[in-house]
Amino acid sequence: MGGSPIAELRLFDHHIHTRVSDGTVSLADRAKTVAVRPHGVSDHYPFRDHLRGDDDVLRYIDDAAKLGLRVGLEYDLGIAPPLLPSTKRALHYLIGSVHQVERDGKRIGYDVAGAFLKGRTGPVYSERDRFGDPDTARHILERHLDLVREGIEEIGIDIVGHPTFTPLAALGDPEAAYPVDWQERFIELCVRSDVAIEVNEAYGVPHRAFLIRARERGARFSVGSDTHFELKPLDRTARMIDEAGLSHDRFLDGRRVRSFA
Ligand SMILES: [Zn+2]
Ligand SMILES: [Zn+2]
Repeated sequence: MGGSPIAELRLFDHHIHTRVSDGTVSLADRAKTVAVRPHGVSDHYPFRDHLRGDDDVLRYIDDAAKLGLRVGLEYDLGIAPPLLPSTKRALHYLIGSVHQVERDGKRIGYDVAGAFLKGRTGPVYSERDRFGDPDTARHILERHLDLVREGIEEIGIDIVGHPTFTPLAALGDPEAAYPVDWQERFIELCVRSDVAIEVNEAYGVPHRAFLIRARERGARFSVGSDTHFELKPLDRTARMIDEAGLSHDRFLDGRRVRSFA
């Protein structure tokens, strides 16, 4: 780990993957680190033949809860097969994230941008030309927001995972990539339904101006390390929270605050 193994930031970390999806750590080993800082588990739904529908998710909740873990899911907006209301109620919280949008039936994946933002592909973002195109950018913005709206209004998510992570975030200047009115619409959707805006450690989103706008509108927030590996201190998150002046009492603590219809 290096340095101090325990971050000062002890806000509840909602966004953590395990071997049930693409994480490298077992549920049992995750259960051991809640003493380091409070956290739940939230694997990808759907995920291959591990998390396909209600039965798999209910088993996951059971397995994790038996270990004393709080259990969420990272629901893949626009992709995930619907879950029964009773299954969603059985979760401690539900994160909804966008990992791709569609255009004319074709997938626009966020994965290359994600690898770049995580610092895995070197200093040059290889898709820059493609996503620098204003028409493509506009399409991504609108589709992304549609999926978030659907997550909030129809699926009943509690948290928007890595809210402003799109290929546009990899272009370098989020205030230029995300028009202010788009940011305001995004924040308004969350505030209206009391859905938390995740401060995401892995991608370093949302950027400071977005977080300040959200704070000024009275938004709720949530911490998400989005780790697939061992638990590390939330250094980047701590800095983001500090620089945007977010008050710790506006953060979720592993419990749902939205009433579930
Ligand atoms: Zn994600
Ligand atoms: Zn994730």
